[in-house]
Formats: sequence, structure tokens, C-alpha cells
Amino acid sequence: MENVSKYFDDGETVANYRLNLEVEEGEFLVFLGPSGCGKTTALRLIAGLEEPSEGAIYFDGQRVDRWSPSDRNVAMVFQNYALYPHMSVAENVAYPLKIQGVPPDDRDQRIEEVLRFLHIEAQASKSPAELSGGQRQRVALARAIVREPSVFLLDEPLSNLDAKLRQEMRSELKRLQDELEITTIYVTHNQEEAMSMADRVVVMNRGTIRQIAPPEELYSRPRTEWVARFIGSPPMNLLRGTRQNGSIAFGEAGSVDIGETTVGGLETVPRGDVSLGVRPEDISIATERPASTTAIAGTVDTVEPLGEYTVVNVAVGDQIVNAKVPTTSVERDDPVYLTFDDADAYLYDENGELLT
Ligand code: ATP
Repeated sequence: MENVSKYFDDGETVANYRLNLEVEEGEFLVFLGPSGCGKTTALRLIAGLEEPSEGAIYFDGQRVDRWSPSDRNVAMVFQNYALYPHMSVAENVAYPLKIQGVPPDDRDQRIEEVLRFLHIEAQASKSPAELSGGQRQRVALARAIVREPSVFLLDEPLSNLDAKLRQEMRSELKRLQDELEITTIYVTHNQEEAMSMADRVVVMNRGTIRQIAPPEELYSRPRTEWVARFIGSPPMNLLRGTRQNGSIAFGEAGSVDIGETTVGGLETVPRGDVSLGVRPEDISIATERPASTTAIAGTVDTVEPLGEYTVVNVAVGDQIVNAKVPTTSVERDDPVYLTFDDADAYLYDENGELLT
């Protein structure tokens, strides 16, 4: 996609703004972002269900943005996929091949393969009404891949399934994509889904791309405060402070010396307002002031034991910091010190851009 924008309602709604994106052959790319950020529109533009207002879309170097969907050889599976209720599973899967004019003998073999691949061969003669939600979803996927599209487009395909099934289908889909090596673009607002399946994640907000990166990098190197807050649960803490000589001051809570590892030398960081970002899981809580200078003083506000771990909310001046710790004996109103490794800290400038 080259500078692709899409406006609706006489230009008043900007669904996509100047998207620039290159998808690799065989890649599993995920569009991730909050509701209304333009993910579905971007997918529909790729499918040919919408025309861009500006910009160009290429498949293998060929400009396709005025091509009809059928000429693009893409397959799309939606959240509300509809199977033909009066046809059996096998007939549903056969339908796209019939339309394509594939001879019946070839058809049967391909259908058999796809049904086996998706573990629904035993359901071949059943009607959609006799299937479970997960089986129906598999039939929808089978119908989409049976004609061997060059691009596979999936729009929140798992959101109608219950949590357990969703998880199962997640690994199933990933396996499917790995084995078929089919270029796949997947839309979701579910972070876990994106992080677990994607080769690269495209983070979107308000119609624009905020960051494109492999999941690990998105987590370990969010380029803006917005992305830092969006990825991770609970989200990254961002403490507003002021950069002074060699340290960052947080009013009465004290100041923190930031080693060179964090930002490649504090001298590169402009003086003034900055935000210090630390993920809740990278923070430890001490009840005595530690010798290390990287300690922020605060008072325990609330303690939330969640079984696997405990989230402690600590008031630091007028800001709240979340710490995710294995266990803790601290209680409300206890004075505590928050510590973390320099390497786990991030600094963002006044505009929310990562400082390096
Ligand atoms: P969700 O996760 O809720 O499906 P999304 O990220 O997929 O959201 P889009 O469906 O792409 O978002 O919508 C982006 C914006 O464009 C929204 O403000 C939406 O209201 C608007 N929009 C989408 N389709 C149309 C349309 N056909 N006409 C007018 N506005 C539209």
C-alpha cells in the first residue's frame, strides 16, 4: 500500500490516512488497533471491496486498486461468516470451485484434502445447522482456502467463538498458515491474538499506522507512548518527570539516575518534560530504601491479588504506578520503593516519541 487514504461521507470521515505498508510473500501480518481505527477498511481496500480515495495498492508489483475483487484472487473470512444453510459441508466448500469452473473430479480431491487438513472430514455430509461453532468456523476457512488464493484476508474471524475455542482456533490458524505459506492479513482488536500469531503487527490508531514490528519488538521497543500503553496488560507505566543533570526528577518522590544503557547516554535527551516508561512486570517493590539510586518512593494505594500474580498500585506524587509481582506482603498506605533495571526503562519526549 502506497500512501493509501480512504475518506467516507464526502471526506468527513477519514477511515485510513496515508497507509504505507509492504507485505512479504507468505507473511502473517496482523492489523491491530482499537474499535473504529480503520482496520476493516484497510482490509476491504486490499480485497477490492472499497476503492482508495488516494494512493495505490500493488500485488507483486502490479497496480490493482481499480481491479474487481474476483480479479485479485483474494479470499476473505469475516466475523459473521455465512455458510449456505441448505448445502452440506462438502457442498459449501465445493461452491467456490464450481464458480471457478474446476472439473468435478479435481474438485472432489481438493475438497477432501482441505476437509482433512482442517479436521472436519467426518462432517462432510452434515448441514451447517448440525455443527458446533468451531466446526462452522473451520468450514468457512476451508471454503476460503480451497481455491488457493494468493492472499488470505481474515477479519476478526474468531470473535464469535468462546474463549477456549478461540485459543484452539488460534493455534490451528497459525498452523494452517505456516503449512500453506499463504500470505495472510488478519484484523483484530485482541492483543493476545495479534501477539501470538503475527510475524509482524501493524498497530493502527485513528486511521493511521503507529508502528509496524514483530510482536517481540512491539513489546520491547514501543516507539511512542501510545503504542507503549496499548501493548501489555496492565499497560506500561508512564511517569511524567523533568530531566535534570543526569537524572529525572519526580517532585517529592525523588529522582532517578538513568544509566547509559537506557537511552544511549542521557546527554542526548533534551532537558524538560519527559515520561519514564516501565512495564509493571519489570518493577520490584522494596520496603526499605535500596542502595540503588534507581528507586522511586511511593505509597501503596491498592493491592489486587490475582492468583498467578498480584498487582500493586502505588501512588507516586499525584501519579499511580502499577507493579505486577509474584507475591507481596505490603498493604494499603505502606511506604514503598519501586526499583527496576535501567535496561527496562524507556524515555519518551513531550510529544510521546521514544528518545534513544
Ligand atoms: P472495528 O474493530 O470496530 O470493526 P475498525 O478498526 O475495523 O473497527 P473501520 O470499520 O475500518 O474500523 O472503520 C473506520 C472508520 O470509518 C469508522 O469511523 C467508521 O465509522 C468509518 N466507516 C467505515 N465504513 C464506512 C462507510 N461505509 N461509510 C461511512 N463511514 C464508514
